[in-house]
Amino acid sequence: MLSLQPLLPINPNRPSLKTLFSCPSKTLTNFTSISKSRKILSVLQWNRRPQLSGPTPRVVVVTSGKGGVGKTTTTANLSLSLARLSFSVVAIDADVGLRNLDLLLGLENRVNYTALDVLNGDARLDQALVRDKRWPNFRLLCISKPRSKLPLGFGGKALLWLVDALKSQPDSPPDFILIDCPAGIDAGFITAITPANEAILVTTPDITSLRDADRVTGLLECDGIKDIKMMVNRVRTDLIRGEDMMSVLDVQEMLGLALLGVIPEDAEVIRSTNRGYPLVLNKPPTLAGLAFEQAAWRLVEQDSMQAVMLEEEPRKGGFFSFFGG
Ligand code: ADP
Ligand code: MG
Repeated sequence: MLSLQPLLPINPNRPSLKTLFSCPSKTLTNFTSISKSRKILSVLQWNRRPQLSGPTPRVVVVTSGKGGVGKTTTTANLSLSLARLSFSVVAIDADVGLRNLDLLLGLENRVNYTALDVLNGDARLDQALVRDKRWPNFRLLCISKPRSKLPLGFGGKALLWLVDALKSQPDSPPDFILIDCPAGIDAGFITAITPANEAILVTTPDITSLRDADRVTGLLECDGIKDIKMMVNRVRTDLIRGEDMMSVLDVQEMLGLALLGVIPEDAEVIRSTNRGYPLVLNKPPTLAGLAFEQAAWRLVEQDSMQAVMLEEEPRKGGFFSFFGG
């Protein structure tokens, strides 16, 4: 077992932050401002290990309907946050046509075997599981090689078989299996949701993404997945203030789902994508990285803490400390 390091060591290089609003999930109360930045610490409770809630492994599909809203970014960052919290995590890239989770994680050169090789009997499951050297309790499973065609027979049953095989691994049965789902609602989506018993619905605060998210929610429920939490990504508080973007409360009212996390628009996400270095590993931590870490805590403990929106404090000369105020 890895010992838990505080995820937010006091660091003078930390970006200055303030909480814009807090949003208790499952209730549609008004957002309240938190004026003291110190309060973030008490909300995030970094000095303890989160208590894993529910039976393991928790099989969670990360889905959205619309493409490009941040499913793969969310899968990569939540997976590594969970691994840093010393949970055993397997991320499955089920976006077969446009596989890119390996790129985001910087593991593309280490994928020698895929799930298809396992199903064809050409490799063992442990050979297809790519370990991350930085976090050995994190493993990546890709379904197929890029540009390779998936056999017609590959579907929900095959993925279910793989998930069952992961569960019965004697040495390191996973606590979490996160499945990165393809966009759309066709066969790839149906395959990806088959083994899941909970879902994270990623949406951006715009009407097209919300309409797709609403449709996907209905399909997930039809498939028996009742535990659906939403992640609102690419939120810009400047646009919300100018009423040019829907607020998180608006999104929550439209979808009626429990809120897992709120991720701000952050150029660091794009930088980290291009570097193949998930942003939750960044030092000093970034706004979006902190928000993903908080979402990981909430996923582990099933909403026991408030969701908060983090926003950069404008620097007005002098150093504003995250811990000051
Ligand atoms: P999906 O898997 O849903 O297709 P991705 O995770 O691949 O979406 O993200 C699509 C693009 O959006 C990527 O270039 C990613 O870097 C960018 N992106 C995602 N989330 C954010 C964010 N919070 N801030 C800025 N860019 C983001
Ligand atoms: Mg993707």
